[in-house]
Amino acid sequence: MPAVSSPSGRSGADRCPGALRAHQAADGLLVRVRLPGGRLSTSQLRRLAATARGDADGTLELTSRANVQLRGIPDQQAVDRIAAVLVDSGLLPSASHETVRNIVASPLSGLDHSGRPDVRPVVVRVDEALCACPELADLSGRFLIAVDDGRGDVAALGADLCWLAETGALLVAGRDVGLRADADQVAATIVTAARAFLRHRAGRRDVWRVADLPEAPAAVVAALGGPHAEPVDPPRGGPPPVGPHPAGFVIAAAPLGRLTAAQAEAVATLTDGPVVVTPWRTVVVVAAPEAAVPALVGAGLVVDPASPWVGVTACAGRPGCASALADVRADATAALADATAALASAASPVADALPLHWAGCDRCCGRPSGPAALAVATGAGYRVAGPREDHHGPLSERVAQARRPR
Ligand code: SF4
Repeated sequence: MPAVSSPSGRSGADRCPGALRAHQAADGLLVRVRLPGGRLSTSQLRRLAATARGDADGTLELTSRANVQLRGIPDQQAVDRIAAVLVDSGLLPSASHETVRNIVASPLSGLDHSGRPDVRPVVVRVDEALCACPELADLSGRFLIAVDDGRGDVAALGADLCWLAETGALLVAGRDVGLRADADQVAATIVTAARAFLRHRAGRRDVWRVADLPEAPAAVVAALGGPHAEPVDPPRGGPPPVGPHPAGFVIAAAPLGRLTAAQAEAVATLTDGPVVVTPWRTVVVVAAPEAAVPALVGAGLVVDPASPWVGVTACAGRPGCASALADVRADATAALADATAALASAASPVADALPLHWAGCDRCCGRPSGPAALAVATGAGYRVAGPREDHHGPLSERVAQARRPR
């Protein structure tokens, strides 16, 4: 029988939610479904949409690790029904390893004719190797593996282990420590590296990430017989921009990272798939842009890179989270309604704006990695933070100012 966890703090055993380990939130139970490489077939997307409508709040929440969450689930029976759908649709291949299949990958790899290696087969091999190693079921649900085709997009996410296809470098806690592996070796190499981390933490189950142990990277290097090369600075890229792409796909943003069941079904009608969920709460839809763009816009998705919704995320806030001091989604939506004018008056164009994350308390759950502006509920409004200190005016203007790069 799947277990139900309570919210936990940083200390103690990892209780990161999964499909079989629901989290009790204020608005009901929540489950998280891991999508290695963010990939979903259209059939899987349709089934998730139907499940969200029937047994959750009607929405698929896109996470910063390119996974999806369903929330507002009324009871354990509904969690069990969702799990059965996931198993039947191939989204839950391992009960023992379901929470550790956190594998992000360059979402445009193999799609945009960039000339870089196609890492999609590597993601499959890494996932299979992870699930085939019983010891790795002990990894935390927060342990992150990245497979980057060389453009540096997911390498910038601070993964515990990140393989760079163009150079073969295996980054550990974001740093090149001189480890190298080719495409045929990388799955076994990542398994060895993850096992070395687990052995180094020596049963301390409150240690979840490689960066939590300063000596852990050296233990990983030793386990792999390295270093194999001189370390070099890894590439650092950014998210692919929303909008149509000449290679024959469209990237669409889900407002505040929430893809409604109707929107998911609209996406599924546009393509034979797969659909790629990105760590930036967008979806890549492989379909002719001429037809797809109007359909996506009609469904309420965002394909204009200049839209003020691009790059804006929010935690659950009220009523979903008992710790929330505000209904951050409603407040973010109200501010965004006024944001076009505020951004138009800003000195920098929208394309240069920093990501903006709205949070209902200081924990800032779901905050994007890297530089970002923050709007954090205080109980008496919002504290706005960004590279600049001089925020003034109404909330919509203050957050627009906070998004300006220094
Ligand atoms: S940041 Fe948001 S989701 Fe996280 S604990 Fe605070 S209110 Fe809840």
